[in-house]
Amino acid sequence: MPDFIYLDNNATTKPLPSVVEAVARLTRDDYANPSSVHQFGQSARHEVELARERVATLVGAKPNEIVFTSGGTESINTAIHSALAEHPDRRHIVSTTVEHSAVLRVLERLAAQGYRVDLVGVDQEGRVDADEWSERINDKTALATLMHVNNETGVILDAPELAHVAADRGVPVHVDAVQAADKLLLLLNAWPVQYASLSGHKIHGPKGVGALYIRRKTKVTPLIVGGTQERLLRGGTENVPGIAGMGVAAMQLAGDCLVTGDNVQWLRDRLEEGVLRSVPFARVNGAGARRVWNTSNLSFEGLEAEAILLLLSEAGICASSGSACSSGSLEESHVLKAMGVEERWSHGAIRFSLSRFTTEGEIDRVLELLPRLLARLTSLRR
Ligand code: PLP
Repeated sequence: MPDFIYLDNNATTKPLPSVVEAVARLTRDDYANPSSVHQFGQSARHEVELARERVATLVGAKPNEIVFTSGGTESINTAIHSALAEHPDRRHIVSTTVEHSAVLRVLERLAAQGYRVDLVGVDQEGRVDADEWSERINDKTALATLMHVNNETGVILDAPELAHVAADRGVPVHVDAVQAADKLLLLLNAWPVQYASLSGHKIHGPKGVGALYIRRKTKVTPLIVGGTQERLLRGGTENVPGIAGMGVAAMQLAGDCLVTGDNVQWLRDRLEEGVLRSVPFARVNGAGARRVWNTSNLSFEGLEAEAILLLLSEAGICASSGSACSSGSLEESHVLKAMGVEERWSHGAIRFSLSRFTTEGEIDRVLELLPRLLARLTSLRR
């Protein structure tokens, strides 16, 4: 692969060198099964428990409140099904229109099974209205589930406040914290949240590993049953290299997010200011809301995102249109639609997502190339 500029960190992040090292060591050398009683096995067990402590520290939880899974999607599925199993008499779920497909597709399936699913809308900046959220919750609500950070726009939903609203009515809360974990200070034990989902590959850890935070005394209905692993909450031999790698990422990022954030935000703002200055038909989606420091969702009026992405890719720049799951299709982003973004803007929406590895030189190169690429497309349009 030739040199490229990677601005698709909300799709996945580059593993930290220390993560790669840990994954390689545990694959090559310390490969024992953590359930084995011999010393070799117990050394693998130690790695898993160390990772549990590290992930717990990152999100303000206790180690015994963390269960390792295969990723954000599995954590989300487990959380939702666990909450519903706890209140079988309640058949109502509240969420938002801007959730990731990992939540929305589960809710669609539940709706087909007879649950009433209420999706609360967002304003034009992508913010959830706390009053509307509150109005939708009632004594039949089994679960309130919402994301903390939107993967397409980087807009921060006020998860702690919205969790309070639900918890005050005795409704269990699940937070999809997949895009938040390395960017915002998470204090899960201080928030009235029963479940939170995390993913390794979004925080510079490995793919195929995630974690589910389950508050003490909250019941879990395991999605995957089998062996006694993860205190009977998730069967199957542990992905020790993945888990250890996620632990290393969590350790390195804990406490570091605010410092990194300042540096990356400076580059993100430089990108946005530069684009807005040189491209008169550009706008930033969600610019009026509180956003995480790495994400910029830029719309180019009248252009097609796929064409822009193709030219960017040819120029060695990796970006994305909306979520990774919906890219590759010309389907309109459900998030931008929920924000009321008109089609002439939403069809040309590109997500640039930066990371601590992004450099000033890379952003300047994008600022140099992007206007030229867009000019090629606008000349074709005429
Ligand atoms: N939730 C959000 C907000 C995401 O951005 C993603 C991944 O894109 C997921 C959940 C799913 O996580 P995973 O890829 O680990 O299954």
